[in-house]
Amino acid sequence: MRVNISNNVTKQAIKDACTAYKNFFRGLQKFLGFKSKKRSMPKFYQDNVKIRFSNTHIKFEGFSSGRKANKKMNWVRLAEHGRIPTNAKYMNPRISFDGLNWWISVCVEFPDCRETLNDDGVGIDLGIKDLAVCSDGTKYKNINKSRKVKKLEKQKRRLQRSISRSYEKNKKGESYCKTNNVIRKEKLLLKRNHRLTNIRKNYLNQTISEIVNRKPRFICIEDLNVSGIMKNRHLSKAVQAQEFFGFRKQLEYRCSDKGNQLIVVDRFYPSSKLCSCCGNIKKDLKLSDRVYRCACGNMIDRDFQASINLKTYGEKFAG
Ligand SMILES: [Zn+2]
Repeated sequence: MRVNISNNVTKQAIKDACTAYKNFFRGLQKFLGFKSKKRSMPKFYQDNVKIRFSNTHIKFEGFSSGRKANKKMNWVRLAEHGRIPTNAKYMNPRISFDGLNWWISVCVEFPDCRETLNDDGVGIDLGIKDLAVCSDGTKYKNINKSRKVKKLEKQKRRLQRSISRSYEKNKKGESYCKTNNVIRKEKLLLKRNHRLTNIRKNYLNQTISEIVNRKPRFICIEDLNVSGIMKNRHLSKAVQAQEFFGFRKQLEYRCSDKGNQLIVVDRFYPSSKLCSCCGNIKKDLKLSDRVYRCACGNMIDRDFQASINLKTYGEKFAG
């Protein structure tokens, strides 16, 4: 691919720096981090007037898939067909490279598509055994326990060991020599990592959109003390793989988009210790007790009860 960078790219970089400084002096942002060739993701801007999409191709300014130097404007093939609307007003297009693929992200305006919501709300209990248990009885499994993810994790670990062994073998005194074989393996590892994050992200997004598409009036979740759980070394890895923080961020974004009210419960609310029938608080509930047994005769799955408690809590505060 031949690249002649448009002058707008360098202009936009300076404009970006300007807005970053402005945000810093207004106190909206921390002081800007400087880009490094080693760590930063290569990214650049594309003029939104000059960009054009067809169902299969994209037209850049200064990009060309042909070999001739004078082919300044050309169409580049897209991997996903029909993803981006062809006749729309585009805003702030950016092109980035993640080590394997080139990506384009573009902002497109849509008319407001808010629908009327149900009267009912939903409580969601997040956990490690299942990703989410909803108060309407639906369960979403933990994707990290599926066979596909486990297999990929194993492949990843094996590759990491192999790379580390190769590095040790090619050690010359203090410095390391990066052979072609190592470069090949590192690229393979990158592919595995991308595949894993894509599977997890996709599952998270599908789960959230399924919940939001049922149009509940409010959604009630627990404010998880993630950094507290991370200190527990038996759980930290499983918690990290579940990406609770990403779940909440995505849920916040979807709720503000669709108009659902999101209620976050204080982390000291005893959602799993409370009996949903008589209101008794069971203080000696262990993490291994999967079934909650109360003196009033209530016997219920622990996570399901937590989600019901979250829902009743949400009903008090929902507007
Ligand atoms: Zn009870």
